[in-house]
Amino acid sequence: MQPSHAGYLLWAILAGVIAGIVCGALFGPAMLAVEWIGTLFLNALKMTIIPLIIAAVVSGVASLGDVRKLGRVGAYTVLYYASTTAVAVALGLLVVNVIQPGNGVAELSREIPSGVAGREPTGFADIVLSMVSPNLVAAAAETQLLPIIVFALLFAAALTTTGTRGETVIAFFDGLNETMMKIVVWIMYLAPLGIFALVAAQLGKAGGGAAFLAQIGAVGKYVATVLIGLSLHVVFLFVVLRVIGRRGFDYLRTLLRALLTAFGTASSSATLPLTMECAREAGADERAVRFVLPLGATINMDGTALYEAAAVMFIAQAYGFDMGLTEQLVIFLTATLAAIGAAGIPQAGLVTMILVLSAVKLPLEGIGLLLAVDWFLDRFRTAVNVWGDAVGTAVIARLFTHHPPPRD
Ligand code: ASP
Repeated sequence: MQPSHAGYLLWAILAGVIAGIVCGALFGPAMLAVEWIGTLFLNALKMTIIPLIIAAVVSGVASLGDVRKLGRVGAYTVLYYASTTAVAVALGLLVVNVIQPGNGVAELSREIPSGVAGREPTGFADIVLSMVSPNLVAAAAETQLLPIIVFALLFAAALTTTGTRGETVIAFFDGLNETMMKIVVWIMYLAPLGIFALVAAQLGKAGGGAAFLAQIGAVGKYVATVLIGLSLHVVFLFVVLRVIGRRGFDYLRTLLRALLTAFGTASSSATLPLTMECAREAGADERAVRFVLPLGATINMDGTALYEAAAVMFIAQAYGFDMGLTEQLVIFLTATLAAIGAAGIPQAGLVTMILVLSAVKLPLEGIGLLLAVDWFLDRFRTAVNVWGDAVGTAVIARLFTHHPPPRD
């Protein structure tokens, strides 16, 4: 996308978010009438995900040229993502211990919310199992990205061993990637209107501004705690971006379109095509964009990890359970796992929280306390998830591809 277009579009998307908040707050449920426009935008984004990811990962990995290089870059990417997720959980635990938002919450919920009731906690084995699908077409149909990425990785690794005979295949996936990115740029022009509709309709569903403020007010301290934790993590990631990735505000500015889309859609998977386009525009190394970013969108969820830890501690405080060091260590480990296992779709974190709650024997009914404000916090944590992936891309690009990034 041309820089001047990108600049206008950023302002238009910002205006879309603000107009969505104002209209949703003022007109409430009447704004449900525009929901279809948001759904159209979301569907258009989702339409590109599967072909884009397959083409990007295959062409990105094949361009590394050597399976051993893939192993090294892959291992460092996973290590980097795991470390930043751990920092996020630690920050979540820190803020919730300092602010203690759950103390004094009078209304305790007595029922397990319907979306959560009857769900089994996701364990380590489930996460490993979810990496390989027996039916790729079914996985694609359900937008399960992890098995698709694993297959694309295997395919690309094999392709690098086929010599000249594989060259046509690599060229095909390269071309497919370029074509899909072109479509993504076109869809991006829909973003201001789409995000306006998504935000307005969601506020409309919450009953408009006054009803929403009343819901927030009930657990205001908790909402503030999560937002403070997420802000601290954004700053931490920015420092990592600056010090290790050697990038700065320019990178952040270019990524803002993707971050606002994450806020509007509450889905890091649906945002992935835009994140890739923005990172590319920001001059991140192509190979990192095609490999590190899709992997991050599926396994790296810093915002969700921080949120899971803070939410579970909040529930413990509200119900009057004392969480000692051992319990908090269990929360630390399971929240990390729950974030890795969460899909990049709206409110996925709420469901994988069962794992954390069960591990420290807290009542699942506690999720009921968070339900009213979860969709709101989901938008912020999704934006942080996307920011985490984008920073990871800049860092890995810098460390392992030996390409100096453009100066900010
Ligand atoms: N909505 C988040 C995402 O798509 C996941 C979650 O925390 O619920 O990244």
